[in-house]
Amino acid sequence: MSVFDHGEFDHHESVHFFDDPDTGLKAIVALHSTALGPAAGGCRRWQYANEADAITDVLRLSRGMTYKNAVAGLPFGGGKSVILASESSPKSEALFRAFGRAIHSLGGQYVTAEDVGISVDDMRVVGSETRYVSGLPQSGSDAGGDPSPWTALGVYLGIEAAVKSRLGRDNLDGVRVAVQGVGHVGVYLCKLLHDAGAQLFVADVSRESLRRIQAEMPVEIVPPNEILFADVDVLAPCALGNVLNSTTIPKLKARVVAGAANNQLATEQDGVRLAESEILYAPDYVINAGGVISVAREYLGQSSADEVRAEVCRIPERMVAIFDAAAATGEPTNRIADDLARRIVAGRADVAEAGRRRIA
Ligand code: NAD
Repeated sequence: MSVFDHGEFDHHESVHFFDDPDTGLKAIVALHSTALGPAAGGCRRWQYANEADAITDVLRLSRGMTYKNAVAGLPFGGGKSVILASESSPKSEALFRAFGRAIHSLGGQYVTAEDVGISVDDMRVVGSETRYVSGLPQSGSDAGGDPSPWTALGVYLGIEAAVKSRLGRDNLDGVRVAVQGVGHVGVYLCKLLHDAGAQLFVADVSRESLRRIQAEMPVEIVPPNEILFADVDVLAPCALGNVLNSTTIPKLKARVVAGAANNQLATEQDGVRLAESEILYAPDYVINAGGVISVAREYLGQSSADEVRAEVCRIPERMVAIFDAAAATGEPTNRIADDLARRIVAGRADVAEAGRRRIA
């Protein structure tokens, strides 16, 4: 299979394959762009059906990180890594050490952190082999550690902004929200939504995740294959990507789609489909940037938790600017966001240089 001819290949600067027979590690690291600084983006561990799916995922996710970091104003480019999970390569200290050495061999061009299937403890092991890692527990009031609460906060604030924009409501009291996936981010998001008076409908394929959330707050459990089509005001995809496509979009009842999952749109055209269906889509990498804001500041060693909070609280103003531009131009929100990100990447050499100096 040719990576260069792959449909998701977007002139990525480099793609690295790592194979360590001693530990069973098989990993792919894609650096989409280092124009704004070292490529930053989490590591996902997933049991892919085949290697081609892993390549598709890492190419798409790394491009999304370029856009995410650019729109969030961070001095980082975009990259991502995937560890191919299999029964013959269970999680182990040796495996994450091998992964840490792989990251270190890239000499700081790529900075990793946790994503789906990876815990803070896993990253701590990675950090014993390389300093090009973030998302590690910090002391006192320093920013850092698990990025999920920050991601959830940004998504929550983004939902508030989208609800105001599309439904004309100033708060979430009584607003019906369907959350697909109540893992790390989903559960924090549900707490914030519940505290704001939202009515929650949740689905997860993990019984454990459902048990945990039911123990904490009142939620209506919906079967995983029905959650996208629930009769709600807001759909918050917080599991995996590609959930918005030509099959699902015609059946959505929500008027707002705003969630944490990366790559929610199967294709760019699906953003057009949503707009044509009068569904307001909050571009995923704009609304879910809270976590990367936290890990970036942690990596740069330059922020307190209060500063991270202040930055995450700027996510809704970016969302509103995108919603307003979409309304003014008739373009779908995903295209407005992509154009903005590409313009920032093309024109911000100053940000890149400042970022490199701080990291060197
Ligand atoms: P997670 O693995 O902790 O949670 C995902 C949850 O979704 C799990 O409970 C899983 O069982 C569930 N799930 C999987 N498939 C499902 C399905 N078909 N239907 C219903 N539930 C399903 O991951 P997370 O860290 O909470 O991240 C969730 C999403 O948000 C991912 O797409 C991730 O890339 C994205 N994201 C996460 C962060 C972060 O800070 N963790 C930041 C930005 C984006």
